[in-house]
Amino acid sequence: MSKNAIKTLSPVSLPSLPYADNALDPIISANTIGFHYGKHHKGYVDNLNKLTAETEFAEMTLEKIIAGTVGKADKTAIFNNAAQVWNHTFYWHSLRPKGGGQPPDVLKKMIETSFGTVDACRKEWAAAAMAQFGSGWAWLVLDGDKLKVVKTGNADSPLSLGVKPLLTVDVWEHAYYLDYQNRRAEYVNAVLDKLINWSFAAENLV
Ligand code: MN
Repeated sequence: MSKNAIKTLSPVSLPSLPYADNALDPIISANTIGFHYGKHHKGYVDNLNKLTAETEFAEMTLEKIIAGTVGKADKTAIFNNAAQVWNHTFYWHSLRPKGGGQPPDVLKKMIETSFGTVDACRKEWAAAAMAQFGSGWAWLVLDGDKLKVVKTGNADSPLSLGVKPLLTVDVWEHAYYLDYQNRRAEYVNAVLDKLINWSFAAENLV
C-alpha cells in the first residue's frame, strides 16, 4: 500500500455502542438509537474523515482535532464534526440501562457540596437542558473542585471551556423527537431519572 493510500485511511472510527440498541427502551427506543447512532453519529464520523483527508488533521486524535479547530472561522466544519463525534461517544457512555438512582458515595458528596442535594443538581441540570435554545447539550462538569451544570449550543463542548465533562444529555431534537416529539422536558427527566450513568461520572473524576 502506498503512503498516500495509508494517509487517506480514516483516522477516526465510529466507536461501538456500550449496550445493545434496544437496551435503553422504552426511555430511548431502538428506533431512535438506530437513527441517532447509526445515521447521525456515523455521519459525523464519515464527514470528519472526508474533511480531514489529506490535511494536517488527517492523523490527529479527535481531541487534538477539536483543540486545533475550536474558534477558528475557517475550520468550523471540521470542528463541528469532530466535536459531535466526541460529544456523541460521551453521551452514549453517559447513559446505561437501569441508570439513574443515587450516585456513588464520592460523587454524591461532591454533588451535595456543590448543589446541596442530588435532587437540586438534577433540577438545575434539567432546567439547563430546557433553557438551551435550539440544538445543544446539557452537561455536568468538574470546574476546579466544584461540580457545575453547563449548557452548550450545537457542537460546542465544555472541553473548550477548561472544565472536565462528567456527563452529558443530548438535547438536539434528533435525540428525542421520534420518541417524545416536542416534549423535551419529558425526555430529559426520563433520562436523568432512569438512564443517567452516575458511575461513568465517578470514573471521569479521576
Ligand atoms: Mn445527537
